[in-house]
Amino acid sequence: MAQKQNNQQENPLFQKVVAHAKEYGFVFQSSEVYDGLQAVYDYGQIGVQLKNNIKQLWWKAMTQVNENIVGIDAAIFMHPLVWKASGHVDNFSDPMIDNKDSKKRYRVDHLIEEKAEVLKSEGKIQDAENLLAQMDSLLAKEDFAGLYQLIIDQKIACNISNTINWTEVRQFNLMFSTQMGAVAGESDTIYLRPETAQGIFVNFLNVQKTGRMKIPFGIAQIGKAFRNEIVAKQFIFRMREFEQMEMQYFVRPGEEMQNYNHWKQKRMSFLHAIGLPAEKLRFHDHVKLAHYANAAVDIEYEFPFGFKELEGIHSRTDFDLTQHQALSKTKMIYFDEEIQEKEKQRYVPYVVETSIGADRLFLAILCNSYTETTGVDAKGEEKTRLYLKLHPAIAPVKVAVFPLVKKDGLPEKAREVFEELRYDFDTIYEEKGAIGKNYTRMDMIGTPFCVTIDHDTLNDEAVTVRFRDTTEQVRIAIKDLKALIAKEVSLKNIFDKLK
Ligand code: ATP
Repeated sequence: MAQKQNNQQENPLFQKVVAHAKEYGFVFQSSEVYDGLQAVYDYGQIGVQLKNNIKQLWWKAMTQVNENIVGIDAAIFMHPLVWKASGHVDNFSDPMIDNKDSKKRYRVDHLIEEKAEVLKSEGKIQDAENLLAQMDSLLAKEDFAGLYQLIIDQKIACNISNTINWTEVRQFNLMFSTQMGAVAGESDTIYLRPETAQGIFVNFLNVQKTGRMKIPFGIAQIGKAFRNEIVAKQFIFRMREFEQMEMQYFVRPGEEMQNYNHWKQKRMSFLHAIGLPAEKLRFHDHVKLAHYANAAVDIEYEFPFGFKELEGIHSRTDFDLTQHQALSKTKMIYFDEEIQEKEKQRYVPYVVETSIGADRLFLAILCNSYTETTGVDAKGEEKTRLYLKLHPAIAPVKVAVFPLVKKDGLPEKAREVFEELRYDFDTIYEEKGAIGKNYTRMDMIGTPFCVTIDHDTLNDEAVTVRFRDTTEQVRIAIKDLKALIAKEVSLKNIFDKLK
């Protein structure tokens, strides 16, 4: 029986969002003219603005709002021992299986989960749950023979060949490797970082000492990470090259749980504040903890294809610093002068981390903002209106300026207004096309304000401002425009909600 492999992509809303992302310059397939590179994407002229705004917002919410969090920007290449210490060389792998007929490779857990989805859609809820429970237990024991048998017993077939002619289950490391230096050899193998966190751990002492940081304190970083993900679908949800926004918070041993709970709530508030609704977000505790964690939770967002991980909050204990201490032979000790008892003053700090994918947050925001409304127009005809309801603070373009007609001195006046705004806000000037069409185009990229210059402007120094969400139009003096826009697009609107 054919599995429902691409159910995410069959989702009509998701299909629309993906098509919209391409049509309006948000996201393109990498190397599209060569038929693309799987699970690698490029951000277009509008997408890069939205992504930069998201990253800037996160960065400021970490480093500007919190006095005890600073940022760094570590290199992608790191000493090979870093990945030995972190456990990635030995543990960063997924159980995989190949279909011998189609030659297609699958993540075992995804294959079984999709079978469970099919069972659920057939009303066999209990069977689906039993299957998932069996899978979890086998994964926890790393019983690969058992996982293979489960796939065979359940007659789970490849969706391309439709056969159950499977190889055995094997571990597959997700790190990309390359060679550094002139002569290629075993010792020159280095990895493209699969997470940004290790760049923070190995710089812990540098930052603590040069920044005279006192525990508790955090180090934040935004940067590229690379994983050779096997399941290359779901658009920018799962990419092979992506960006992470991570913050490691260094705390006293024994104080990690209170900090973990604090960051859980803080990160959830952040996602609410940027406009993701509470009913589309939920916590999902990890049952099987990673080798480094003593508590872990995902914040899941309800994408059009279901609730999926958006952000992870992990209590990583002193695992990473202790490992780096052992392999680098450099002491990762903090001297805590606020502690009275002498024997407790020196310790390896514990770490609580928050880790969110910039691309995944971009996708969540894009899906959430995609708004279709149906109403009746002046002629009594039913019309569907589409716009992106982005928070003004992260909208790629804040304001568009149009002259009503391309004559009578209106373009000149409109240019004056444009010049007045463009150094403070991302502003577009457009003199071609009908005003209505221009409004629609701005709706598609989520521009919160459109400003139209008409004949009256030349006399009264006022313009018509059209608001994206309500389509309401109001007359406003040019001298008041900046203040109106600044008030709405200010990041402070979001930061105030985080207090
Ligand atoms: P998943 O279970 O979805 O593979 P993960 O648990 O491996 O994710 P983490 O290692 O905790 O993810 O990474 C932290 C965050 O980085 C994730 O919550 C996600 O937002 C982002 N992320 C991880 N892998 C990818 C990827 N392949 N593409 C895009 N974003 C990713």
